[in-house]
Amino acid sequence: MIENEETWKSICPCGCGNEYTSISGTLKYGNDSELDFLAALMMHGERNKHIWFSFMTGSWFEDDARDCVITIHTWRDGDNVNTNVEDAEESPWKKSELLKKMRFLSRDEVASQEGGKEWAYDCYDLLAANHKDIYGFLLEDKDFA
Ligand SMILES: [Zn+2]
Repeated sequence: MIENEETWKSICPCGCGNEYTSISGTLKYGNDSELDFLAALMMHGERNKHIWFSFMTGSWFEDDARDCVITIHTWRDGDNVNTNVEDAEESPWKKSELLKKMRFLSRDEVASQEGGKEWAYDCYDLLAANHKDIYGFLLEDKDFA
C-alpha cells in the first residue's frame, strides 16, 4: 500500500530536453513496516526509458547518525528489465533538497552491509508490486525491441 504519494514534473538534467515524472511516497508493508521512497521515471530521446529510485533508511553506521539513502537504477533492455544497486553519485536524486541531510550510499557500502543488497531488492520488488504505474512505465510499448 502506498501513502502520501506526490508526483511532479521536471526537465531531464541530462540535456535531452524531455520532461520526466517524479514520484515520492511511503510504502507500507509487512507487519507495520514503512519505506519512504523517491522515483524518477525518465526517458531520454524517444525510447530510452529508465527509473532511478532512492530508498530512505535509518543510519547504517555507528559513527554517522545520518539516515541513509540507497540508489537503485532499473532500465529496459529489449523485453528485459534490468535492476542494479548503483552509486548514489550517479542518481538524479543526488542533489535533491529532500535528501540533502542524508548519507548517500555507494554500491560498495550497500554490498558490504550484511543483508543490505537483499533489503534494497526486496524494497524494489515490493514497490513494483504495489505501484502499477512505476513498472507499467517500463513495460508499456514492450514490442519496440
Ligand atoms: Zn535525459
